[in-house]
Amino acid sequence: VGCGICVNKCPFSAIMIIGLPEALDKPTHRYGQNGFALYGLPTPQVGKVTGILGPNGIGKSTSVQILSGALVPNFGEDIGDWDTVLEHYAGTGMYDYFKNVVDGKIKVSQKPQYVDMIPKAFNGKTRDLLEGTDERGVMDELVEKLDLGHIINRNIGELSGGELQRVAIAACAARDADFYFFDEISPYLDIYQRINSSKLIQDLAKDKAVLVVEHDLAILDMLSDVVQVAYGMPSGYGVITHPKGVRIAINQYLKGYLPEENVRVRPDAITFEVHPPRVATDIATLLDYNAFSKKYGDGFSLRSDSGSLKEGEVIGIVGPNGIGKSTFVKILAGEVEPDEGELESEVSISYKPQYIKVDSFMQVRQFLRSITRRFDTSYYEAEIIKPLQLEPLFDKMLNDLSGGELQRVAIAACLSKDADLYILDEPSAHLDVEQRSLATKAIKRFAENNGKTAMVVDHDIYMIDMLSERLIVFEGEPAVFGIAHPPSSMQKGMNKFLSDLGITFRRDEETIRPRVNKKDSRLDREQKAKGEYYYYK
Ligand code: ADP
Ligand code: ADP
Ligand code: MG
Repeated sequence: VGCGICVNKCPFSAIMIIGLPEALDKPTHRYGQNGFALYGLPTPQVGKVTGILGPNGIGKSTSVQILSGALVPNFGEDIGDWDTVLEHYAGTGMYDYFKNVVDGKIKVSQKPQYVDMIPKAFNGKTRDLLEGTDERGVMDELVEKLDLGHIINRNIGELSGGELQRVAIAACAARDADFYFFDEISPYLDIYQRINSSKLIQDLAKDKAVLVVEHDLAILDMLSDVVQVAYGMPSGYGVITHPKGVRIAINQYLKGYLPEENVRVRPDAITFEVHPPRVATDIATLLDYNAFSKKYGDGFSLRSDSGSLKEGEVIGIVGPNGIGKSTFVKILAGEVEPDEGELESEVSISYKPQYIKVDSFMQVRQFLRSITRRFDTSYYEAEIIKPLQLEPLFDKMLNDLSGGELQRVAIAACLSKDADLYILDEPSAHLDVEQRSLATKAIKRFAENNGKTAMVVDHDIYMIDMLSERLIVFEGEPAVFGIAHPPSSMQKGMNKFLSDLGITFRRDEETIRPRVNKKDSRLDREQKAKGEYYYYK
């Protein structure tokens, strides 16, 4: 079974086991003799959004450099040249593409992965940045669609992460290119904004080729027309499969096995379950909290209903950005005092904030060892170190870690403390798709095995769905006021959340993962009529 790109010896015919790059034959590109090797390539197609599903460090940027003509692929030899490339792809769907690259006819527009870097590279206002990239004359339209009107005259250096992300998406889409590459769209965005950006990118792909890397699977699922799975060994080698149907690709990925390639990408499957509401009487209560409120000066105000947390349950917390979710958990964690309402503090809490600050200069190993007595146990190894991929980080200093590395250490630190209640604010941030699923599993198993209660704020519906037994839904007006509802069943909570959003989810028959229904499709209309935004089968 081949990838459909190579015409000569195809590397995919042999059975492969993870971690055995020798089983592959000729790479598309290799950096130096023992450097990172990329096998296969993404195949952008006009009129389609091609989604890339896989971990970081697997050759996405390398691929895009090749597709933009900035890097000549060397097929594992010392140097590459375009004649060899054209010869290699002769008779395949990629020949015309590379012919255009060689003739200088392919223009590429890219949205970088790390939007936090933009203020370092650009000094000026949002308007200046967008005017500079608006080759298609669509600035006004993009500003409206991405809700950038109120920040158009603000300095780029003053924007929040979510604002920067939307400006970066607009800037990329405004260019007049043949091939658009979005290296993640969801970081810092809430689900409303993720869906909005997805729609914009789908419109763009009507007559252009678009490639998107995305780690939020619900978004990748609704956004893509085809998906290419990327697997391998981060920093060692990466393989990009041929395009697959979106549903099939995501299901194969979740199961951990790619049948066409005959490759296992993960030892075990990632599974979903539909949580039936527990009978409330059989579980002890961990904490009853009173209604409380908080107002920041004459700015944002939060009001929370009273609620009750059960022992050993995981509660998901969802709502748009700026609605008070972080303020709410900070008050529960005792980090912020409410103006009205008292919270009893007999319950001990371990809290991972949304924005992680490093205030100690320690190695990761030393840091974790200082928190838990279980560091050297097989329990800790199997339940914390392995799933959070911490081993490679042990000798690094905390202040040298990247966003995703620090996130994994912070999740580990939170779960390492002795407490009754564990609160994690946006644990999926900066994690790639593989790390997210492993972290989800670690948090869930931790709560189950230790009978501990956890609260998880996140925008990733797959993470929330896999983790939560109950849900706290926020509503209100972002940056103005927020209301925290009491915990409700997943079904009731998601129905409320999704009806505010105007989207419905069905369940995939095979994996029972949630899938966004196309707006106004038969199912979408049926489910809305019944008020079943979520658990419909
Ligand atoms: P991704 O975009 O999927 O995160 P990249 O394509 O940026 O991955 O990088 C894949 C691997 O190739 C990394 O291990 C990186 O260190 C290596 N790499 C990237 N660029 C170069 C280069 N110019 N020379 C040598 N190695 C490189
Ligand atoms: P979420 O976590 O839902 O995104 P937050 O609780 O972080 O929301 O913030 C809610 C609102 O309160 C936002 O408009 C934010 O700018 C504002 N806010 C948060 N912390 C403070 C603070 N310490 N002082 C003043 N305003 C704040
Ligand atoms: Mg927050």
